[in-house]
Amino acid sequence: MALREILLYPNPLLKQVSSAVDDLNSAEFQELIADLTDTLDASPGCVGIAAPQIAYQKRVVLIDASRNRKPVPNNGRLLLINPLIIRSEGSVLGREGCLSLPHLTANVSRAQEIMLQYSDLEGRLRELVSQEFEARVIQHEMDHLDGLLFLDRVSSLKTDVFRRKRY
Ligand SMILES: [Zn+2]
Repeated sequence: MALREILLYPNPLLKQVSSAVDDLNSAEFQELIADLTDTLDASPGCVGIAAPQIAYQKRVVLIDASRNRKPVPNNGRLLLINPLIIRSEGSVLGREGCLSLPHLTANVSRAQEIMLQYSDLEGRLRELVSQEFEARVIQHEMDHLDGLLFLDRVSSLKTDVFRRKRY
């Protein structure tokens, strides 16, 4: 178990499309899960991290909307392996941050509700419905698996991206 360095924009690894996880039992994968967990826990207020952000190009994200400073409805800690959005509804504009773009935030439009299919650590296929803030976090982290950052999602780099006062 270890903290891993977060890759920062414009690291080209963040633009890669990650491949599916095919061996849940490999030592390498188990180590990745431990490191993702440690790295998320070491980042105050951080609600999600994607494997490619720690230079592991596999389709895994770790979400924990319960760590948000303001309480929001959530499903607790979610390790989503090979996640797939099978239904989405609505559209909400909201502010997002990203560990890989620590000096910026942006207004991004996301589905209000999503239904998700993913594998858990035991390889069981699961489904989950998520809404609002947590759904936004899941969509943001899943974008990392396709090499997308919020800069790729904003309608205007001029009016929808903001510099943080401090970080
Ligand atoms: Zn991010």
